[in-house]
Amino acid sequence: MKSLRIVELLRLPATGDQVVVKGWVRTKRGNKNVAFIALNDGSCVANIQVVVDLSKFDEELLRKVTTGACLRVDGPLVESVGSGQGLEVQAEKIEVYGTADPETYPLQKKGHSLEFLREKAYLRPRTNTFGAILRIRHAMAFAIHKYFNDRGFFYLHTPLITASDCEGAGAMFQVTTLDLNNLPKDEQGKVDYSQDFFGRQTALTVSGQLEGELGAMSLGRIYTFGPTFRAENSNTPRHLAEFWMIEPEMAFYELEDNMELAEDFLKNLIRYALDNCQEDLEFMNKMWDDGLIERLHFVLEHDFKRLDYTEGIEILKASGRKFEFPCDWGCDLQSEHERYLVEEHFKRPVILINYPKEIKAFYMKQNEDGKTVRAMDVLFPKIGEIIGGSEREADYGKLMARIEELGMSTDELWWYIDTRRWGTAPHSGFGLGFERLLLFVTGMGNIRDVIPFPRTPKNADF
Ligand code: ATP
Ligand code: MN
Repeated sequence: MKSLRIVELLRLPATGDQVVVKGWVRTKRGNKNVAFIALNDGSCVANIQVVVDLSKFDEELLRKVTTGACLRVDGPLVESVGSGQGLEVQAEKIEVYGTADPETYPLQKKGHSLEFLREKAYLRPRTNTFGAILRIRHAMAFAIHKYFNDRGFFYLHTPLITASDCEGAGAMFQVTTLDLNNLPKDEQGKVDYSQDFFGRQTALTVSGQLEGELGAMSLGRIYTFGPTFRAENSNTPRHLAEFWMIEPEMAFYELEDNMELAEDFLKNLIRYALDNCQEDLEFMNKMWDDGLIERLHFVLEHDFKRLDYTEGIEILKASGRKFEFPCDWGCDLQSEHERYLVEEHFKRPVILINYPKEIKAFYMKQNEDGKTVRAMDVLFPKIGEIIGGSEREADYGKLMARIEELGMSTDELWWYIDTRRWGTAPHSGFGLGFERLLLFVTGMGNIRDVIPFPRTPKNADF
């Protein structure tokens, strides 16, 4: 007989038909006549109840049925007697695939702290909370591909190993096959990278944008969706050393179009979650954040406030608020500032534009004022910056002038600059941090809890 996943079983009518169900024991309770096993197979947050008439089974077998053990159960699917609603399987046959010694199984008890579960990251998907988060994570990844596919964007795979730190977006992880205990040196005593695997110094990418722009200038609209690495030593609840980023890049999009896309994209993803992850969202709302579902609806129902950086600074200065990092024109906003604008002042997401050029990357389109660039950051409640993007500088002369002004080398950038020499065009793009999106959609407070295997300073165990 075909075994059904619990998510499918729970939709069946209680006809008493024979079913096979396979999963992990969440709890076992009962009395001397009967045992109730809550079985979960990861297909949904709900368990199926298995009722065991103890007189029909060997004691030896039943002793192996403990929290964490994996079972196959055969029996009829019937209406649950206890609660008067729901379904249960009356066990006729039980096979124990794998035991889980109660003395050593780490998830024996319920209600572990998130800190404890982070130490047990390899097992935490077995909990209701991480089951829900990982299903939502999957749904969001799928929705992202669907969103772009439906709108004629092509998925472009950009390299993970790169020779350029052009973004300046963060410290990089070096990639090398040189023997670190015996490095080849040149005449000046510097490491001789010509002997390294790629014949030059390389690192893991901090962004796929620069290659993404090449895609936009040939395919029109592309997006990347891949891992990104930043060796920032920042132990914050919003930064990972390895995270996933979605970076659409569009020819013929100006800043306005870019903002419109970012807002529509985020709203579409949130709507997808509400429509397709209802049970998991309700679970997260109940367990972790009772404002979650309301907040998701709130974002859908409000236009994002579009605001100049300069105005934003004026609002912050006039707020009378004592910030940990005081802020004046020219400063890079901290999440406390971003959250003030979003949560207290405008009470809705904010798209902040036209930042000082000094605090933004070299490739952003320069405004007429000579001081600001056509950058846009989308700021969200509870998160702060969720998206960073801009219209790109399409003019060869202006781009080169900025590169020189910053004293950057063109050795590793020539291929990027060439896009401005041959058939340049207005274009724009942005980067959405996948885990920041998931923080918002799941209501979790720490970015380590929305990725299966978090990579943070001093932590890459499993
Ligand atoms: P922040 O100021 O929050 O550190 P950033 O300005 O350095 O971010 P960008 O270079 O603009 O980030 O990257 C685009 C997006 O990638 C950000 O808006 C954010 O959603 C996400 N992101 C950036 N750094 C990280 C990180 N270390 N971990 C997780 N997500 C990140
Ligand atoms: Mn940014």
